[in-house]
This record gives sequence, structure tokens and C-alpha cells, in this order.
Amino acid sequence: MARKTRCYVCGIVDSRPKRKDAWGFICDKCYKRGYHCFACHRQIEPGRGLRYEDGRLVCPSCARRAVAEIPPELLTRLQSELCWFPRARLSFSMAQAKDLPHRRGRRRVGSWGACERLPNLKRGQRHYLVKILFGFPPEIFRAVVVHELFHAWLGENGLSDRFKPDTCEWLCEHMSCLYLSESGAGKPWRQVIAMSRDYYRYWRAREYKGMTSSQIVQALKK
Ligand SMILES: [Zn+2]
Ligand SMILES: [Zn+2]
Ligand SMILES: [Zn+2]
Repeated sequence: MARKTRCYVCGIVDSRPKRKDAWGFICDKCYKRGYHCFACHRQIEPGRGLRYEDGRLVCPSCARRAVAEIPPELLTRLQSELCWFPRARLSFSMAQAKDLPHRRGRRRVGSWGACERLPNLKRGQRHYLVKILFGFPPEIFRAVVVHELFHAWLGENGLSDRFKPDTCEWLCEHMSCLYLSESGAGKPWRQVIAMSRDYYRYWRAREYKGMTSSQIVQALKK
């Protein structure tokens, strides 16, 4: 007997759903191409999506929980959670889509954040400015912060220039995935970031997927 599955958009039971994403099954009636939340990739119920001014389509749940400013406790929290937290001086700011570059290799996809190196204040002390696009739910917001922080870590360890840009993106996105699972974020959130990570190619991806974050930073430092 076929397993009955419920569409997560309309709740109707369908015995043979053809489509599935990180959030569950979608029936044919609810599936609408391109009508997905930019942040969680959930299929949006017809007429229930909202648009940010820059054109991003967002689901009601992500819009309601959107992070509009850098939470003051975020850094102390990440400092204790990440075994590789950068040593460099860090500044943070929220950004608009137009202030961020396109995503690497994808002209039509905007970046979710950026990590810029600022001029050194003191000799030998690096300073990075981390910019985060406004409007993410907290899970993705933290994932983007971790991604950008790992760019800073790669930079201060002299690895940004040693690796190909795609390798850096893969590693930053993978560290985000690990952070989400270590901090107990639900599987769909991890899947959203894993999908974006797998867009990039890295020949050691399989090997690194079997390691913890501290094993990865040790291996990279060698
Ligand atoms: Zn449905
Ligand atoms: Zn959403
Ligand atoms: Zn990046």
C-alpha cells in the first residue's frame, strides 16, 4: 500500500505526491514554480507571500521573524560556540541587497552577506567588516554570520589566497551547516544551507563532510 502523505502547504493527503523539499511534500495543486521563500525555500501558499522592496519573495513566517538589526548578545554567543572564532577585530552592519555583490558564479543571485577587510588600525591587527542582508529568520541569519566569520578566519590564517574562491565558499557554507547542526537548528534549515553549499565544487568535499569543525580547522592549518 502506498504511504499517504500530507501536503505541507494545503494539508490535503495525497497518496502519490511527486514533489518534496526540505519542508515536506507538496501536492500538484500547491506547487508553483518560482513561488518560494528566498530564505527558507518553502513553497508559499498562493497570495500569502510578501515582497521586500528589493524584490525578494518571503513567506509569512520568515517575514514575521525577520532580523532587522545585529542582536547585541550574538557575538558573545558565537564566541563561546565556535571553536575557531576569528582573532581579528570585527565590526558588523546590516546591509541592503544593492550594497552587496552578486553571489559568486551566479549573476542573478544576490549575496546574503559579505566580509570586507578594512585597513589595519594597529600594526598586525586585522579588521573585518561583516555585512549581513536584512530580512532573514534567526536560523539563516546566524548561518550567514557564521559563513562570513569563516571568511575572516580563512583570511587571518592566510588561506583566502591559497584556495580557489569556490573552495572558500564551500568551506564557509559547510562551517555554517556544521554550526546549525551543533547548535540544534532543525533539519530543514540545515538542508537549505547544505543545498547552497553543494552549488560550489570542492574536490575534498566528501572527506571534509565526515569531520567535525575542530578537525576541519586543524586540517586547514596544516
Ligand atoms: Zn497542497
Ligand atoms: Zn520562509
Ligand atoms: Zn562567502
